[in-house]
Amino acid sequence: MSAVIPILNDSGCADLPVLRERGQREVFCGLTGIIWLHRKIQDAFFLVVGSRTCAHLIQSAAGVMIFAEPRFATAIIDERDLAGLADANEELDRVVRRLLERRPDIRMLFLVGSCPSEVIKLDLSRAAQRLSNEFLPQVRVLNYSGSGIETTFTQGEDACLAALAPQLPAAGANDPASLLIVGCLPDVVEDQFARLLAEIGLPQVRFFPPRSSRALPPVGPNTRFLLAQPFLGDTTRALELRGAHRIAAPFPFGVEGTTAWLKAAADAFGIGADAFERATAAARERATKSLQRHRAQLQDKRIFFFPDSQLEIPLARFLSRELGMQLEEVGTPYLHRELLRQELALLPPGTSLSEGQDVEKQLDRCRALAPDIVVCGLGLANPLEAEGLTTKWAIELVFSPVHGYEQAADLAELFARPLLRRAKLTRELACN
Ligand code: SF4
Repeated sequence: MSAVIPILNDSGCADLPVLRERGQREVFCGLTGIIWLHRKIQDAFFLVVGSRTCAHLIQSAAGVMIFAEPRFATAIIDERDLAGLADANEELDRVVRRLLERRPDIRMLFLVGSCPSEVIKLDLSRAAQRLSNEFLPQVRVLNYSGSGIETTFTQGEDACLAALAPQLPAAGANDPASLLIVGCLPDVVEDQFARLLAEIGLPQVRFFPPRSSRALPPVGPNTRFLLAQPFLGDTTRALELRGAHRIAAPFPFGVEGTTAWLKAAADAFGIGADAFERATAAARERATKSLQRHRAQLQDKRIFFFPDSQLEIPLARFLSRELGMQLEEVGTPYLHRELLRQELALLPPGTSLSEGQDVEKQLDRCRALAPDIVVCGLGLANPLEAEGLTTKWAIELVFSPVHGYEQAADLAELFARPLLRRAKLTRELACN
């Protein structure tokens, strides 16, 4: 099923139509988020309540990390009838007790729901409540869903943070104004932003999620928050329910996005243009220079995005405006218009946007356009490569440090590298 729905582009120069598709899709489920979430909140544990398929997904996505002291696991719930539900709850409690006995370092435990019907029948929020009552104050037990029926890829992070938001301590109406950066960032990127924001002159800056569950940031009516990731719609609502206010901004990808993102924070706190300029000029100049070498490679190359991570629109904006790439189609699993308003306004007029997926139809469009590079999930990349198209795995864009000035060139390189590899291959084939 497809429908074309016009949306308003803030620039006023174009109404970008959105092709909405609801068919078969090729996207990871929200369990994948555990791979980066467990690295971020270092005393948390993620217990997937699921099937062998879920265990397999999480282990293969985590790759070699499974051999390290793991902070995620799967409690496998086998098929059972309704009468077996009480047993399933007891079994889950037993697994949790055993885990917490063995791992006294765990301070926060997430029960992560999945799709098998046996799991859907279990009330994980009641289980989390029951287990929290048993283990508080040592361990807080929360739950969210990473099910492929309800979530795609990055929505797992959104669901996790939305579950955590009500647990944040309350900041009072008389507490000083503070800034909360929301969304998982690699520690090195977080440190860079913390330094820059301090140099700009922002008062108290905190990050959510924190690195430790013992350092949950307080939130209240004087909290302004800035999203670092575009896929945090439920988290935004949960923080707004706590009285916090979102600062609208483009996302910090590339020099332009990073500058606009930092500037939105500076403006929200009444910091003048001179102070902002002094704090950011050097990093901005360095990043602009470092992008030049990739521009030569990427200029005028045509790119097609399959929907995957919800990073597609900010990345398309960066690639078209700072590197001169041509956008053939920008697909996103879900288009959150409010959170992406500033990004949409920066896309070139006439950009072809699609939301959701009907994979066969989208593959036909992609083949017909024969773009220079295709951004897609792992499942589509190999067949497309075999057909002679150059691909980039969307998952790498989520796993790599790509935000901010210092990473702008690395982000461009992630797109330049497959093109260089393809050019080399074509040269070698021509020589043989
Ligand atoms: Fe488990 Fe469902 Fe994800 Fe498959 S799609 S791994 S069954 S949660």
